[in-house]
Amino acid sequence: MTRLTFLGTGTSQGVPIIGCQCPVCRSADPKDKRLRAAALVEHDGLTLLIDAGPDFRAQMLSHDVRHLDAILLTHAHKDHTGGLDDVRSFNYIDRKAVEIYCEAAVLRSLRNDYAYAFAEHKYPGAPEWHVHLIDQRPFRVDSSAQSGELEWVHDKGYFYRMPDGSLQAPDNSILEAPHEAPNVIPIRGFHDQLPILGFRIGNIGYITDMSRLPEEEFSKLEGLEHLTLNTVGYKPHHSHFSLDEAIALARRIGARHTWLTHLSHTFPVHAQFCEELPPEIQPAWDGLVIED
Ligand SMILES: [Zn+2]
Ligand SMILES: [Zn+2]
Ligand SMILES: [Zn+2]
Repeated sequence: MTRLTFLGTGTSQGVPIIGCQCPVCRSADPKDKRLRAAALVEHDGLTLLIDAGPDFRAQMLSHDVRHLDAILLTHAHKDHTGGLDDVRSFNYIDRKAVEIYCEAAVLRSLRNDYAYAFAEHKYPGAPEWHVHLIDQRPFRVDSSAQSGELEWVHDKGYFYRMPDGSLQAPDNSILEAPHEAPNVIPIRGFHDQLPILGFRIGNIGYITDMSRLPEEEFSKLEGLEHLTLNTVGYKPHHSHFSLDEAIALARRIGARHTWLTHLSHTFPVHAQFCEELPPEIQPAWDGLVIED
């Protein structure tokens, strides 16, 4: 069984937007209050967080999250990574680093954005992360995962110990074959020109911040109970699906239910937006829980 809780369903500025007086931003309906996009996934005895944006702290508190086995990052934009300093609370509770799964390009951004967390002589109290490098190949998150640290291999250089036990060079070449059954299937997509990841866990697919899904990825999304797709507005957008594109994609993938996320105030208030959409394709809201 896989359970996904939407912790945030808003676009990069969230809804309401600071200073905006539009009917959506002024709505009293709690479903019109959208924090930055993130989801908590419970699967296989694991508690996983997809993305840790600037609302991470509020999301952990409002859902009483006391433990995370891993954080999976879709891409490096701040509305998906801006809360990573606050994992310090989990460092103190669990007395260990937080396991983060991301692509090499995301790690490069984190090194720039959070240079102090990677410093050789860290200031006491800086966040502790174990970064596991992933790409579009299926991988395994383990509750006892301690991998992801750089290991020196004699005569060969530094490699990352991957969650499946293989060793991977920082350029993504694999040194040893994987040997454990994967439990997360990454979905490769594009956010304008930027390669990013979605994730399939059990029969739930989570896609955010994409404007293009390559043909070869569709087979990974067959037989889904629930699919999450991003859209920010009615008009075509360079880095996100428009509403029409998201609906067409949802119909092609054919999940039993499709939930729209990363929503902006250009859509109507939640209740009205629900009525505009077909029953099998509906806007998600903060706090919605789905199960496969
Ligand atoms: Zn975003
Ligand atoms: Zn507004
Ligand atoms: Zn983005």
